[in-house]
Amino acid sequence: MDILNPATEEVVATVPDSTARDVDAAVRRAAAAQPAWAALAPGDRARALRRFAAAVDAHLEELALLEVREAGHPIGNARWEAGNVRDLLDYAAGGAERLTGAQIPVAGGLDVTFHEPLGVVAVIAPWNFPMPIAAWGLAPALAAGNAVLLKPAETTPLTALRLAELALEAQLPEGLFQVLPGRGPVAGAALVEHPGVAKVVFTGSTAVGKQIMAKCAAGVKRVTLELGGKSPNIVFADADVERAAAAAPGAFLDNTGQDCCARSRILVQRRVYDRFMELLEPAVKSFVTGDPADPATQMGPLISAAQRERVRGYVPEDAPAAIRGEAPAGKGFWYPATVLEAAPDDRVATEEVFGPVAVVIPFEDEAEAVRLANATDYGLSGSIWTRDVSRALRLSRAVAAGNLSVNSHSSVRYWTPFGGFKQSGLGRELGPGALAAFAETKNVFIAIDPLEETK
Ligand code: NAD
Repeated sequence: MDILNPATEEVVATVPDSTARDVDAAVRRAAAAQPAWAALAPGDRARALRRFAAAVDAHLEELALLEVREAGHPIGNARWEAGNVRDLLDYAAGGAERLTGAQIPVAGGLDVTFHEPLGVVAVIAPWNFPMPIAAWGLAPALAAGNAVLLKPAETTPLTALRLAELALEAQLPEGLFQVLPGRGPVAGAALVEHPGVAKVVFTGSTAVGKQIMAKCAAGVKRVTLELGGKSPNIVFADADVERAAAAAPGAFLDNTGQDCCARSRILVQRRVYDRFMELLEPAVKSFVTGDPADPATQMGPLISAAQRERVRGYVPEDAPAAIRGEAPAGKGFWYPATVLEAAPDDRVATEEVFGPVAVVIPFEDEAEAVRLANATDYGLSGSIWTRDVSRALRLSRAVAAGNLSVNSHSSVRYWTPFGGFKQSGLGRELGPGALAAFAETKNVFIAIDPLEETK
């Protein structure tokens, strides 16, 4: 498969297109490597993962530059992404050392609970954050004693392939972590259907997630899903409106809007609506769009021609817009920052566009804000801008989403659980509980022979 640089449309690499036979061979190698890995003392597994983290740390710039070339991410963002992989491996290493069981003293014996690894885990990753999202599954799965097969997205396999080499350089056992570049319906489907795969961690579109969940049901295979979003950014009149308007562009333009947590529905209290729009316009127009390799760049191209067609299907570049930024002309899958004034049930206001497009919708009061925020099948994230602490707390409870922020757009921190309500997903990744999603809980009762006191 040819891999394109989305900023230039040049072919930057050619990678294998894995078949179902390749998947079968990889599952066998992984299954052979996993028992010895699981049998290591937790400290030894942790040390190996810390070596892997150190190898990533020693190649941060190289990994970041690969992400710039294959995904078109601005270099500043790409550096954060590479650092996130290192941090996750370090954090998960500590988890290996703390995956303790529990003992309950009971009459006549001992009641013990273990966390057993699942075996071989498949991680199917999307193209929008290829490196971090691969690591969210990979790091805790390895820490809990599993082998991992990673299928990167068709367009972005290069960082994943490099991570597999770094794992070997860090002396992780051969076969324990393998990368299978390939197509979703071929290599991805073969992994999901393979009886030797105990769990599937999927991040991607809700449509594919539903298919994968249905296939996993056939074997009662464990599954974690991180799917789409249509997250609200709720701005109340009592907020610091200047700050809210200054922060709003980054919250839907970061990663060119190809972010499952993008705050792409901006809900603004009517009393400050005009003021907010006046402030939003220069903030959107000054968002620096262009060469991803330039450290000043804030927004790069979309990932592919197909993704640009998808975004154009919602809003052609010449359709009227409340605010429109500029994008480079010529080669590359560019699309300008776009803000639309929309009705709440317009298609562009309800479906995930996955491009640099936001809608702005006014609301009257708190009750209407909550109703609009929750009027979606998704529930991944959202932001609440207000100076009223009680209102912030009421909204934090009332908005149905897995990750909310108050006077901020922060969504993902590796020490914090992350995942969606409703059709945004199933299960949680990251945070202190991440390893538990890669282990079966087993309880064993051990009878103690009664002492024969007369002897
Ligand atoms: P996608 O669903 O098309 O593909 C995701 C991955 O699944 C790719 O590796 C692809 O090859 C694979 N795949 C496709 N069809 C498959 C099949 N039949 N069987 C097995 N694997 C298959 O999604 P995408 O276009 O790569 O990513 C964009 C979507 O991902 C967006 O909708 C976005 O919201 C979502 N996303 C969600 C999160 C989250 O954490 N919730 C994070 C990133 C992206």
